[in-house]
Amino acid sequence: MIKKYVYLFSEGKGSMKELLGGKGANLAEMTILGMPVPQGFTISTEACTHYYENGKKIDPTIEKEIFDTLLKIEDITGKKFGDTKNPLLISVRSGSRASMPGMMDTILNLGLNDEVVEGVAELTGNKRFAYDSYRRFIQMFSDVVMGIPKHSFEKIIDEIKLKKGVSLDTDLDDNDLKEMVTLFKAHYKKQKGADFPSDPKQQLIESVKAVFRSWENPRAVYYRRMNDIPSCWGTAVNVQSMVFGNMGNDSGTGVAFTRNPATGEKKLYGEYLINAQGEDVVAGIRTPNPIDTLETVMPDLYNQFVDIASKLEKHYKDMQDMEFTIEKGKLYMLQTRNGKRTAAAALKIACDLVEEGMISKENAIKMVDPKQLDSLLHPQFEAVALKAAKEIGSALPASPGAACGQVVFTADDAVKFHNEGKKVILVRLETSPEDIAGMHVAQGILTVRGGMTSHAAVVARGMGTCCIAGCGEISIHEEEKYFKLGGLNIKEGDFISLDGSTGKIYGEQIKTVEASISGYFKILMSWADEFRTLKICTNADTPKDAKQAIEYGAEGIGLCRTEHMFFDSDRIKAMREMIVSKTEAQRRAALDKLLPMQRGDFEELYEAMGGLPVTIRYLDPPLHEFLPHSDEDIKVLAKEIGIDFNELKGIVVSLHEFNPMMGHRGCRLAVSYPEIAEMQTRAVIEAAINVVKKHPDWNIVPEIMIPLIGEVKEFQYVKETVVSVADDLIKNSGISLRYKVGTMVEIPRACLTADEIAKEADFFSFGTNDLTQMAFGFSRDDAGNFLEHYYSKKIYEQDPFAKLDQVGVGKLIEMSVKLGKQVKPDLKIGICGEHGGDPSSIEFCHKQGLDYVSCSPFRVPIARLAAAQAALK
Ligand code: PEP
Ligand code: MG
Repeated sequence: MIKKYVYLFSEGKGSMKELLGGKGANLAEMTILGMPVPQGFTISTEACTHYYENGKKIDPTIEKEIFDTLLKIEDITGKKFGDTKNPLLISVRSGSRASMPGMMDTILNLGLNDEVVEGVAELTGNKRFAYDSYRRFIQMFSDVVMGIPKHSFEKIIDEIKLKKGVSLDTDLDDNDLKEMVTLFKAHYKKQKGADFPSDPKQQLIESVKAVFRSWENPRAVYYRRMNDIPSCWGTAVNVQSMVFGNMGNDSGTGVAFTRNPATGEKKLYGEYLINAQGEDVVAGIRTPNPIDTLETVMPDLYNQFVDIASKLEKHYKDMQDMEFTIEKGKLYMLQTRNGKRTAAAALKIACDLVEEGMISKENAIKMVDPKQLDSLLHPQFEAVALKAAKEIGSALPASPGAACGQVVFTADDAVKFHNEGKKVILVRLETSPEDIAGMHVAQGILTVRGGMTSHAAVVARGMGTCCIAGCGEISIHEEEKYFKLGGLNIKEGDFISLDGSTGKIYGEQIKTVEASISGYFKILMSWADEFRTLKICTNADTPKDAKQAIEYGAEGIGLCRTEHMFFDSDRIKAMREMIVSKTEAQRRAALDKLLPMQRGDFEELYEAMGGLPVTIRYLDPPLHEFLPHSDEDIKVLAKEIGIDFNELKGIVVSLHEFNPMMGHRGCRLAVSYPEIAEMQTRAVIEAAINVVKKHPDWNIVPEIMIPLIGEVKEFQYVKETVVSVADDLIKNSGISLRYKVGTMVEIPRACLTADEIAKEADFFSFGTNDLTQMAFGFSRDDAGNFLEHYYSKKIYEQDPFAKLDQVGVGKLIEMSVKLGKQVKPDLKIGICGEHGGDPSSIEFCHKQGLDYVSCSPFRVPIARLAAAQAALK
């Protein structure tokens, strides 16, 4: 049987997303439901994959299948492609499995040429409309398919308007538009050295190729990396017969959501424009009207739309984002999809749908993207500071949250400032998909033009970034890098604050406060806890972090990095003294100074955790990280600890390592200087004894974790030190205290010999930061400098330090779990590398049967939800 690559809408269905993409599958589903969908067909994602495998060429058999299916559309619509009497015009749009708003390309009004346009004029009795459609097509095709910049056409439009002495496009008549077409085509020829393609079939095939190509455009690639979408999915192409919202005042076009995508409120929410094409709404060029005013303008149509919207929501059991067009008083549905929403809206909608009996708790859990919760876990404006702040303007609250930062006017500057460690607010006339990288690093986005469904609004909501859109009061000078608002002149680098929940803009810095989990967030989290089997712990080194993590639902500390406790200026001196010691006696003297500090820290941590498990990892980093490097600093230290400058300098130089990440760090320090492990054991056990005395009902079992083990004898050696000190202390304390000694598994050799190590270790915790570093041989500190090349060359799609490499590093984990459990079936196993807070990596940990994941406090709620989703998969 020949493989099928092209499907009529009537041949597909909603469950065929992998093959038809989201848009294609939903158009098919709406067709099955008998909704008014302009008919068309979908070229499958497999055709896209085939295009790339075939040297970026569409195979002649697929091309034939496309044209054969087009004939069927001609039959269905009674129109003919390229005909001058009754022409079929089509749109060509991308549509991948996961929705990627604005990331890929669309071409409308395809099938027009000098002859067909006359036919359209005759048939509609509207020459202006015909030529307006034609000039839009030339502009879009030239831009999207042939790469001639859109603004070069806008310049021609401006010249025509200037010549005629008018300011609006709508003031141009059919003759002006006809002239525009001639000028556009001349511009095309000048740019491309060939005539604008007049053959509709050629127009179609070139457009399909352009959509396939757009799957690999930089903004799509970037979006995929941000959203974990693999490049092998490819995009489908939807070819649909055109309906026109710009045929007069009985026509229009709009976008609507069945619930408010910013707040989740259960109320139809959207915008429309009379006598316009879809691009006008999305591009934010004209400011659209709120959807409920359509009820007075076209009551019947409004009711029909409300009815369809409600049916679609019930059918998909989720909030829908729909595009519609009204052509001469008839309603057409162009698209429906599960709508993108803010995190707050996502939580409210999920809880409301359960309440309304539409979905189960399990489905509510599956419906919320864990990563999105991040936007709710960060600071909001402090109420008092906010009240005192002076508002300088306001506009649409397009995406909520508090943002404060320095103003920049281009996406590139946003990235530049961000790389310098500054927080930025991106201020633009309007954003476009090219701005994606700048939008991603911005704290907030402010646009002069555009509505709630403009590019800036849609993309910002998806990213959980604060956005205020359509602030027409701003007089912006992007080139000169300043804007005026509320009597202020705000330049690049000045601070402003945005409240994305109210739409208010402030010309100053406003203090922020921590977020908390309440309301719908709390409800959904409690459901997640019912279903997850993985325990969620946190990586915390201070009581403040520990308290934050508990607030967010952490069930223990999975990693306390003790070296972080020595960086404070009042402690680093004793630490440095310890490092530069020449004899054991000197080292012990310095360690004696560190002991009370460390013991105090541990006591506070135990207190903050209220009896929950705490895993304390022994000193890990290369020692020279603590040493001064400049002569100035060495002089100061030499004076402080009373040794000669040259002698100290010699020691500092001698501690230099060529490969510090693989140097004298981790358990190697305790092997060289067991007195360090002795001091740390004292601190841990004495702190536990003190706290147990205060809280006899708390079940404190100190967990001591040895880093960077690669050989069981290394572990045995350090463990012996720990046990001898700990047992002595416990014996003398008169209380009974159990403790555990476990290991980080972060060196490939530890994975390979996990059965040996498991005989000795009470628990394993995967340090996937180091394990990734050593499995790939990529320095964790330097890989960021070259990984970009790997993404652009498609060698890797994701940063392996952010998303666990399940193929390679995952295999090491799988092997360790298997070997470890062979020896000790109840071995406690967790993960404490960065991946412990990444949803896809958490799913992997669940599948491997790990007991817990440990992540930073702010990612604890994300991990709780991701763990529940993994359990429900
Ligand atoms: C790890 O290597 O994954 C880990 C948690 O330890 P650190 O990041 O401190 O090296
Ligand atoms: Mg490590």
